Amino acid sequence: MKHYNREELDLYRNGDMNLFSRIMCSEHLKICASCHKLLDSLKEDDALLEELRGKLNRLKHAAGDDTVKKKPLSGE
Ligand SMILES: [Zn+2]
Repeated sequence: MKHYNREELDLYRNGDMNLFSRIMCSEHLKICASCHKLLDSLKEDDALLEELRGKLNRLKHAAGDDTVKKKPLSGE
């Protein structure tokens, strides 16, 4: 049985696979635990990236707030 690699599963979950391959892949995922696990790990990577992105944004906001507070109101 042919297994899927990360790149192929990435295409699959992003919908960049052609219809036939996608059907083949989803059928395979139903019966193959190891490919399913790989697909799950890709999703976890995504969640991790999202979390990091969120943290980074919060840091940026926090830094932005700080500079606003520190900056004296000028021109008044
Ligand atoms: Zn497989």
